[in-house]
Amino acid sequence: MRHIYLILIILFYSSLSGCENKPAQWPVLTGETMGTYYSVSYNPTNPRIVDKRLRDQIEKLLDGINRTMSTYIEDSELSLLNQVNIDLPVTISEELFYVLQNGQKVSELSNGAFDITVGSLVNLWGFGPEFLQRQIPDERDIEFLKLQVGYQKLILNENSLSIAKTVSGMYLDLSAIAKGYAVDRIAEHLQSLNIHDYLIDIGGELIGKGNNQNNELWQIGIEQAQPLSRKVQRIISLKNMAMATSGDYRNYFEYQGKRYSHTIDPRTGKPVSHNLASVTVLHEKCLIADALATAILVMGKENGLALADRIKTPVYMISRSKNGFIEHYNDLFLQYLNE
Ligand code: ADP
Ligand code: MG
Repeated sequence: MRHIYLILIILFYSSLSGCENKPAQWPVLTGETMGTYYSVSYNPTNPRIVDKRLRDQIEKLLDGINRTMSTYIEDSELSLLNQVNIDLPVTISEELFYVLQNGQKVSELSNGAFDITVGSLVNLWGFGPEFLQRQIPDERDIEFLKLQVGYQKLILNENSLSIAKTVSGMYLDLSAIAKGYAVDRIAEHLQSLNIHDYLIDIGGELIGKGNNQNNELWQIGIEQAQPLSRKVQRIISLKNMAMATSGDYRNYFEYQGKRYSHTIDPRTGKPVSHNLASVTVLHEKCLIADALATAILVMGKENGLALADRIKTPVYMISRSKNGFIEHYNDLFLQYLNE
């Protein structure tokens, strides 16, 4: 564990080296999705792949995912499920089932720290799709809505691809896993086009496969938290892997000097209140990395590190202290850190 000052993760793709004799730039397709940006950089060796067409395909894929699992689209499949109280099983799309099932897996692993049924509480604190005033809710409202939360209260049946909510008012929120899922889907699409060197990034959840345009592993930078410099403190080499980060420093409000972030601890019904500022997880699948990063942010340093070790997952964390930011990581992460 070392004391260093850092906070933000920045991506600088292939710009780290090779300033002289620069190879031709690889295409970078960018746009907006899920309330953030997306960016896809890839090796354009196949002349039959046209940037514009690929971009259209990616946007179509992202649109489809949003129409299935966004809580910001009123008539998405998920929003329609959230509008009804179903105690009888309802058949859902295979795609939605897959994401719910993976969400439930991470809930089990994290003992409920990650929980897609936490939506009512997310909304109560003003972090949901209805732009509510972000303020401290009444304790009684928190206690009442906690009754609607709990991954065990959502029953999934794989044989019939159906789900049943066993409490009324349950509101499903896939915001902490859908971006990772979308990254996985874009990766599959690129693979199907025989593209094997690429970096896909949706709001900081990403997959790097193969090499970058300098013929080296994709390099992801972690920036120092010095206000006047944007120096890179850490560089991570992503070897055919997904990486996701959850932090409390982007989406939060402050009240009487206290920070209230958009990550809710389902057990207290309140935003996490320990001193972890961010959690980065590496995994083969981006949807799991995404969900685990949120889970570990909720669990805190000790329990989070213990979970990561138990499931043999590389994890890197930044916590706040009086003297600045402190980094923590498990042994599995060490090999990805370039000294
Ligand atoms: P980001 O959107 O910054 O990448 P996350 O992946 O951690 O961050 O997702 C945070 C979002 O997930 C919140 O805005 C909320 O909608 C939802 N959420 C909050 N707490 C939890 C939780 N404990 N489990 C699952 N989802 C959560
Ligand atoms: Mg997440």
